[in-house]
Formats: sequence, C-alpha cells, structure tokens
Amino acid sequence: MATSKKKSETVSRSSEIVYRGIPVSPGFVIGKVYKFESPLYPAVQERIITESEIPLEIARFENALIKTRKQILDIQKHIAEAMGTEHAEIFNAHLLVLEDRVLVEEVIKELESKKKNIEVVFLEISDKYAKIFSRINDDYLKERASDIKDVTRRVVKNLLGQEHKDLSSLNEEVIVVAHDISPSDTALMHKENVIGFATDIGGRTSHTAIMARTLEIPAVVGLVDISEKIQAGSSIIIDGNRGIVIVNPTKKTMERYGKERTRLELYEEELAQLRDVYAETVDGYRINLGANIEMPEDVPSVIAHGAKGIGLYRTEFFYMNRTDLPTEDEHYQAYFSVAKQMYPNSVVIRTIDLGGDKFLSQLDIPHEMNPFMGCRAIRLCLARPEIFKVQLRAILRASALGNIKLMYPMISGIREVRAANAILQEVKNDLEKEGISYDKSMEVGVMIEVPSAAITADILAKEVDFFSLGTNDLIQYSMAIDRVNEKIAYLYEPTHPAVLRLIKMTVDVAHKENIWVGVCGEMASEPTLALLLIGLGVDEVSCSSVIIPELKRTIRSVSFKEIKQLVQEVTNLTDSIEIRDKLHAFMREHVPDVLEF
Ligand code: PEP
Ligand code: MG
Repeated sequence: MATSKKKSETVSRSSEIVYRGIPVSPGFVIGKVYKFESPLYPAVQERIITESEIPLEIARFENALIKTRKQILDIQKHIAEAMGTEHAEIFNAHLLVLEDRVLVEEVIKELESKKKNIEVVFLEISDKYAKIFSRINDDYLKERASDIKDVTRRVVKNLLGQEHKDLSSLNEEVIVVAHDISPSDTALMHKENVIGFATDIGGRTSHTAIMARTLEIPAVVGLVDISEKIQAGSSIIIDGNRGIVIVNPTKKTMERYGKERTRLELYEEELAQLRDVYAETVDGYRINLGANIEMPEDVPSVIAHGAKGIGLYRTEFFYMNRTDLPTEDEHYQAYFSVAKQMYPNSVVIRTIDLGGDKFLSQLDIPHEMNPFMGCRAIRLCLARPEIFKVQLRAILRASALGNIKLMYPMISGIREVRAANAILQEVKNDLEKEGISYDKSMEVGVMIEVPSAAITADILAKEVDFFSLGTNDLIQYSMAIDRVNEKIAYLYEPTHPAVLRLIKMTVDVAHKENIWVGVCGEMASEPTLALLLIGLGVDEVSCSSVIIPELKRTIRSVSFKEIKQLVQEVTNLTDSIEIRDKLHAFMREHVPDVLEF
C-alpha cells in the first residue's frame, strides 16, 4: 500500500530496486519494460522551404496520410480479430479525421503561403482544431479533440519516419509501465504481448484492475512514481501476488522467482483438478460459485476455471472503445452468446453501469465534480430511457433461452426499482405485441452497493427476486473512500465493522423475505474474505475466473461449522485490523498454502 512518495521504493540493492504497491491481479512475470506515455506530439524542427520544394512537401504529406490510414486499418483488423468488430470501431473517428478534406486543403494552402516544412504546418493547423474542440462544453466533441491529436501524432511520426507505439499493436512481449492506464486502454491489451503492467496510480477495485484480473495479466498499481523513475527496456519482475515490482533483479532474485515458478506450476496443476467439483465445505455445505465477466470473450476462461455460472456480467464495456452506441442486435448477439455458452448455468446480466471511472464519449454526459456520486448507472438509464430500452429489449430477447437473470446497478431506494421495472414492463409489452418471446419468469434483482439500499433492504426485498452485494461500491460509499485513489487505499477496509453490519443486515432481510443474496464485489475474490461472506450467510459468491480454483480449494478445506464459529467471533470485534488478523490466523491454520494476494 503506497501512502507517500518515499514508501513505494523500499529496497535498493546494487542495481536492483524493489517497489511496493497494491497487488491487483495475481501471478508473476519477468520481462522488459515498455513505457506507455500519455500521447504527446513528437518534436519537430521548423525549416523554411523554397517554392520548388512545395510539390515535394505535398507529396510527403499525402504519403504520410496514406501510411497512417493503412496503420489504422491494420490496428482495426487486429482488434476486430482478437476482440470483435465492436471494439475496432473506436478507430473510425480517426479515419474520418484523415479523410477531412477541409483540414487537408487548409494545410496545403498554409504550406503554400508560409513556406514552412509540412510537419510544422500540419501540426499547427491540426492542433488549432484540437484546441477548438477541447474547449467546447460537450463530451462527445471534446473526445474528437483526442482523436485529432492522436491522428496528428501518427501523421507527424510518419513524416519524421518515427515508429508509432500503441498498446494494441505491440508485437513483442513486454511489461507496460505507465502513470495510469484507463479501462479502455486495458481492454485493448493482448495477453500475448502485454504480459504484465505496473502503474503509479489506481486501486484494487478500479475497473482497470478488474479488467487485468479478467484478462489474467499480473498487475501492481499505486506505485507512486515508478513511471518517472524507470528506464524503457529495463528488466522487471511484476509480482501480482505480493504487490511487488522489482527493477533490474539480481541473479539471486531471478533464481528465487525461478523456484517460485516451479512451485506455482505444481500448485496450478493441483488446482486444475478442482475444475469439475463443487465449492463444498468438508461438512457438505455447498455454495454457488460464479464468475464475473466484462465481455463474451471472457466465457471460455470462466468454463476453464470451473465456475458454475456468471454472477456478474458488466455490460458497460460493450459501449467502450467505439464511437457509436451498440445496436439492439449487437447487444442481443452478445447476451445470447454468453447465455448459450453457459447454459444451463445462469448468467446475471447487469444493465449498464456507466459513469464513475467508466466514461463514454458517445453519450453527452456533462462533466461532474464527483463522477462516482453523479449521474451513474441506473440514474443514467432512468434519465436516458431510449438507451436503456435498447439494452432491456436485447436482454429480454436473449432470456428466451431460460438461464438469464437481470440486475440493476447502484439502486439507492425503492423509487428507482419501481421506475426501472416500469420501463422493463413497457419493453415486455412491446415484445408481446410484436410476438417476440422472452422468459416470463426471468428473475430481476438489484445490486446492494449504496448504504441506503442496504439499510432499506427489507423494503427492496419485497420488489425483487434477488440481491447482489457490490462490495466495491458499498465500501466506497459507506466509508467515503474513493475506490480508485491509491493515496487513501489504506482506508479501504472490507473488514470494517460497518461494512460487515451492512452485509449481515442485507443477508438477514433477504432470507427473511425468501430471496437469495450473492456477492459480486471484489471481496468475493479474496479467499479469506470470501469465507467471511459465506459465514455471514450469502448464497453465492462471484469473482474473477482466475480466482475460482483457489476459492474452491479454500472452501473445500474448511467446515461450515468452523466458518460460522469464526464469523461469530469476528463480528464481536470492534476494529477492522483485529478482524483481518483473526481471519488471516484462521487461514494460516486451515488453508496454509493458499496464495493470497
Ligand atoms: C461493486 O461495486 O462491487 C461491483 C461489483 O460493481 P462495479 O465494480 O462494476 O462498480
Ligand atoms: Mg458497483
């Protein structure tokens, strides 16, 4: 955990430097550093040209435009093959900039009048447009400014004969080190070449961290200033289990990690044996173990890791890295594909949870001071029913398969549930009129992730079929801790008695009202905390696929009686650290070799 500038760099032995941060995605990797820097224009030298050089400069410019277009088309193809066409469409806007005749003609006119080299002229004009767009108070147009800057950087690099670096088009194995990586940058990573990453900022429950776990890329965040200190090409170890980053490891460190790899491989082989068994305690108490996904492409990993269903499908990633909104059919294809692959196991589809740290340029959502507390998730859907209805129609159509459940995020009170259900009913009526079938008994649940929802869970339980505790936000909102701010990460305490009471309260009233309650927040992804949740009575835990084998192993190593006893004891404690220590002591005694991170 990094709380001050000095704390991230802990040991410096000969040339080896050890940084401590927040472990967000398990496993470890050894590789070479690739510095991912915020997009900047390359430096260009101004040169006065003669009249006779003008045609040459125009030809250079046109060649650079053609080359840039080809590079963008190649990237699109690469992304479309790896992740689907919807992800590739982000680059359509870049192509439009290149094809903008007004811009190209203005550049040529300026070249003829100013007689400066084309790099300088092009940079001046396109930067002028980027600035105009970025000053407009409209998120969509502001985003166009980034497209112009991105294309300009590419064109100028091509004019200068410099190579262009991009996370989606890396062609060698690297470890990415950056100040920050957005969730949409992370979505463009490929596991084959980005084998790990480390960032200065971020927290365990940021969506970048969650994506890293889904993609199974070891990662450490909250390293304060590693991106400034590190040299590109340095040798580096990312230890996503311990939250350690080692730069220029010594021979001894390399040997230690070599041995660890052998141990880890044996451990993984052992875990693989658990794929088809239930998550059942030694005294026969069975718990539903689901997986969280962000995209249909994540399903094979869910199946490979032996999850029995999907407890959370975060659909908002479908809207990212593209310039338009997904159509009803695109939604339908995605949901149908996930439900079909998982059949007969159930799939909980959460309606879009945009806002917070997941922004979108296609929707003109005004900038807010506190986006996590702003027009996010269900609030946005209720404010924009025309967008919400497209998704609901697609979910209902896919539900005809029979294994889909629907869930609304960020519910804060009964009025929102009723308003969302009223829209759902309208959509059902439309489908019926059109003779389109859907699952009439599809379960509809809500996420309990705002304290007001947990406190009024008895009221909400009467209107829904299930609850899913979103502990990432529940902790953030109940303790006033921004979940993506690494400076206060030490205050983000899942074992705080307030959090445990909110969870217990929710579980007790859910059961009283005969509805089931799951947990899909990251608390479920830590074996120690998952045991706590099970002891508090939750019926399902849903976590990143990569954690499932370890969680099964943990659950299968203890008895429910022991878990209940442990939870009884910890709920009598008053301090989060005491509670955490007691849970760790239990783990050391019962599941000593579990690789917690
Ligand atoms: C949560 O808040 O715990 C949750 C699962 O939702 P998200 O992380 O997408 O906000
Ligand atoms: Mg949430």
